Order: sequence, then C-alpha cells, then structure tokens
Amino acid sequence: MLTRFAPAPTGYLHLGHVVNAIHVWDAATARDGRVLLRVEDHDRQRCRPEYEAAILEDLAWLGFVADGPPVRQSERDAVYRKALQPLIDRELVYACACSRTDVSGSGRRAPFDSGNSRVAQGRPGSGPGSGPGAEHRYPGTCRDKGLPLDDGVGWRVRIEPGVERFFDELRGPQEQDPAAQCGDLLVRDRLGNWTYQFAVTVDDHAQKITDVIRGVDLLASTGRQIRLARLLGRTTMPRFAHHGLVMKSPTEKLSKSDGDTGVRGLRQAGWSAEAVLNRARSVTLFP
Ligand code: GLU
Repeated sequence: MLTRFAPAPTGYLHLGHVVNAIHVWDAATARDGRVLLRVEDHDRQRCRPEYEAAILEDLAWLGFVADGPPVRQSERDAVYRKALQPLIDRELVYACACSRTDVSGSGRRAPFDSGNSRVAQGRPGSGPGSGPGAEHRYPGTCRDKGLPLDDGVGWRVRIEPGVERFFDELRGPQEQDPAAQCGDLLVRDRLGNWTYQFAVTVDDHAQKITDVIRGVDLLASTGRQIRLARLLGRTTMPRFAHHGLVMKSPTEKLSKSDGDTGVRGLRQAGWSAEAVLNRARSVTLFP
C-alpha cells in the first residue's frame, strides 16, 4: 500500500489538512503501507516557499513522518512534458486561447448531481452548491481551431463522452462523466503552469500510488483523473477514499469569524500537538 499527503503551499497548514493527514497516516499504519509527501506547488503564482517551509515544520511538529524527502511538482516540468508527449502525438491535445472569464461566461453549468457523486463541482470549488466556485464546462470553443501549442495559450486534452465508474472506499460506487462535468481538460494554463488535474494524475501514476485518500471536495475530480490516467497509459487505478471536510455546516465553509483553524495560530496560542490532533479527530466532518 502506498499513499501520499499532497498539500499545496498556497497557505498555512489548517485543521482540514490535519484531518486529511490523520486519514492518510492511519490508513498506511493499518495496512503496513508507506506515505509519500508531495508538495503540489504547480501554480507558481499562488505558491510560496515560506508556506512550504511552514507546512513541513507544522507536519513534523504534529508527528507526521513521510517515507523519503518531499517531491515538488515545480521541479517536475520535464516529467509532465514527457507524459503529455504521446497525447500530443495522438492529436489529443490542442491549444486554447480562452480566458477563464470566456469559459465561465459561455460554458454551460455542469449538473451538480451527476451520477452518485454527492458533490459535483470541480477544482477549485467553493463547497457544495452553485456559488462562485461552481464548475463550468468548457464548451469546446478552440477544439477545432488548430492553434499552435505555444506558450501564452492553454493546452487542453480532448475528453470524449463516457462514464467513469469507481468505488469510493467511504462512499460506495460512483459514476461520473467528465465530458459532461468539465469538457476538454486544461492540462497547462496560459501562464505555463501545469494544472492540478494533470500534475496529480501524472504523479499518482509515476509514483505508483495505490491509495488516494483526500477530502470530498475532490470527489468530482476523480472521474476525470481516471480518464486522464488511462489516456496516459495507466492500467490499474488506485483505490480512492474521500472523507468529509471541516465545515461550519453541510453547506457553509468555515470563515475567519468561526475561529482560527490554522495550526500556526493554535501553536502560538499554546496548544500542544496532541491537543491539535485530538481536535482534528473529534471535529464533525461534512458532508
Ligand atoms: N494538493 C491538493 C490540495 O491541497 C490535494 C490533491 C489530492 O490529494 O489529490 O488540496
């Protein structure tokens, strides 16, 4: 059994991360497995080295020890290029000049209850519902334009209609149709960043991850990651488990006024590591 803890250094470690880390390390301990630490710093504009340093330090303070040094997505450009090349050769990748606003303005809203998935929004999402983080399906505007695959444009992989079925260890059987949810998948953005969906799929494959354990906000991403993994040549898919999130209620995210859930802040307020872990183990998770 090989799993991973994969924080994005776009902020400090918070209680939601701790809940995830507990799920990941508990599963590894129960099944004599290993945990890899992957720093998901693919978004060069939003990630900061000081957040990474703080995350690693807080994890160590909490007692989470990974097998081996952290792997950074920002150092894996060559790996992602190599992984994408066969798809380029098969003409499955095209250049897309649409901005995020173009996509949110023209794309049809993806249905929020697709298949058995309880949360159908993609990434980034802002919790269940149809708020500002709701997912927009890419309508295929640039699909047949034949634009050159240059820097300064997005790169998308063609996603044909079809249902992906998988079993979630915590939620049972799931069905998702990525073409209906998100349409052709952005794998590299206009700024030259590899996207979360692409980098995570390449890394889970390259690192031979057998178990993906993460929050339910990523449940809707799983079908497209399975589809992408298959296109990239992965034959055996990992097991998936999506646990609930630290939220105020089933539909409301925590806000600043709900108290500090940042590990840094709790540490500074005098909490012990054990107290933070106990809080994470006892907090109610949604949905
Ligand atoms: N990097 C993602 C996050 O910070 C987690 C990705 C995953 O577990 O697939 O939420």
